[in-house]
Amino acid sequence: MWPGFLTLLAMILGGLLWLTRRRLARFEAENARLQHTIETYSRRHAEALAREQAQQAALFDSMVEGVLVLDSKLKVRLVNQPLERLLGVARDIRGCAIMEAFRLHELEELVSRTVREGQVGDFELELLGQPRCFLEVNSARILDRQGDSLGMILVFHDVTRLKQLENTRREFVANVSHELRTPLTLIKGFAETLLGGAKNDPAVATRFLQMIEKHADRLGFLIDDLLTLARLESGQLHLDPKPLELHAAVQRACDDLGGRAAERNVGLLNEVPAGLLVHADAERLQQVLGNLLDNAIKYGHAGKRVLVSATSDANHGVECSVRDFGPGIPPAAIDRVFERFYRVDRARSREQGGTGLGLAIVKHLVQSHGGRAWVTSEAGQGADFRFSLPAAEMRNREDGGAGMATASNTDGHG
Ligand code: ADP
Repeated sequence: MWPGFLTLLAMILGGLLWLTRRRLARFEAENARLQHTIETYSRRHAEALAREQAQQAALFDSMVEGVLVLDSKLKVRLVNQPLERLLGVARDIRGCAIMEAFRLHELEELVSRTVREGQVGDFELELLGQPRCFLEVNSARILDRQGDSLGMILVFHDVTRLKQLENTRREFVANVSHELRTPLTLIKGFAETLLGGAKNDPAVATRFLQMIEKHADRLGFLIDDLLTLARLESGQLHLDPKPLELHAAVQRACDDLGGRAAERNVGLLNEVPAGLLVHADAERLQQVLGNLLDNAIKYGHAGKRVLVSATSDANHGVECSVRDFGPGIPPAAIDRVFERFYRVDRARSREQGGTGLGLAIVKHLVQSHGGRAWVTSEAGQGADFRFSLPAAEMRNREDGGAGMATASNTDGHG
């Protein structure tokens, strides 16, 4: 009986051991599976998080605006690339306080104001570097559902160009008002003098009426030039470019201004080679040549020549020069003469009936043809105003247009 009992016990124990081992093995397998699942999940989660962060960073970096995110302790948590460029940040500033990161008191003040007020809109930040830069900043605190602070976000817009445009516009309006007021004041003055009794003397009355007419003309020219400029700048001016013979166009401009040139005893010489073709709008080309010739007659020395010449090459198209032998343009004014209302000698320009817009119009017209305008001058040696225009392709009339030759390939006398 005893050995039988022992055998039974051994069998029971063996069975229990087997069961326990199986359970253990199952448990271990379960555990391994669980661990694998956890690892896979954490790896996927980490990958998803990294992907999300990379997408977020790419999104922030691709923005035009600068973005700065501060944490709950107001330390830098994120700064995107546009802001790094705007503020000249060249190192890793994550974890730094505002002053340490940017050394800008105004920015620190903005952060304190945002803490107090919750959000601040259109805060102006001026960066005194070279060139000066203007930023508009919008900032807001980030709060969780309980209203506890998670930090702050600041968005920076570069408004430097807008500011410059605004200043130019303001300056332009002030200039236009001034330019319009001057002839108007004179017209009013002459009219009042006439009404005050001068009309009784026919000689004086005629002189005053002539002055009124002259200043009214000036107002008309100014308004015409302003309208031309406005149309050019808004792209409303319709151009109809065609192959044009430059020599003939210059001759027409010289003929139109012959009377004015004769008054000042100025000889106009057209030395543009015949056959040189430009691709331009006829009326606008006439306006460019007219403005440059008119200036050369007005500002060149009386009794001297004005030379118009042109060359052509395959790369640069046709280059035309209007050269006078007057006092020329001082070096400091060379870069400015094409600006609206810029005059070297204000009184002289007004006296000659100038609007101060002639060269600005020349520059715009030439540019809208795809060319450029510039001037070279040596003090006392006269001015050489030049402009380039695309050379026109000339249809060969004999073969009905099948053959094409560029004007730059002609011998200039064809
Ligand atoms: P304006 O109506 O005053 O002539 P422009 O725009 O045509 O206006 O010219 C601007 C200024 O450039 C003129 O006021 C003048 O001072 C200067 N200028 C233009 N052409 C010449 C020239 N050929 N020689 C000397 N100065 C010139």
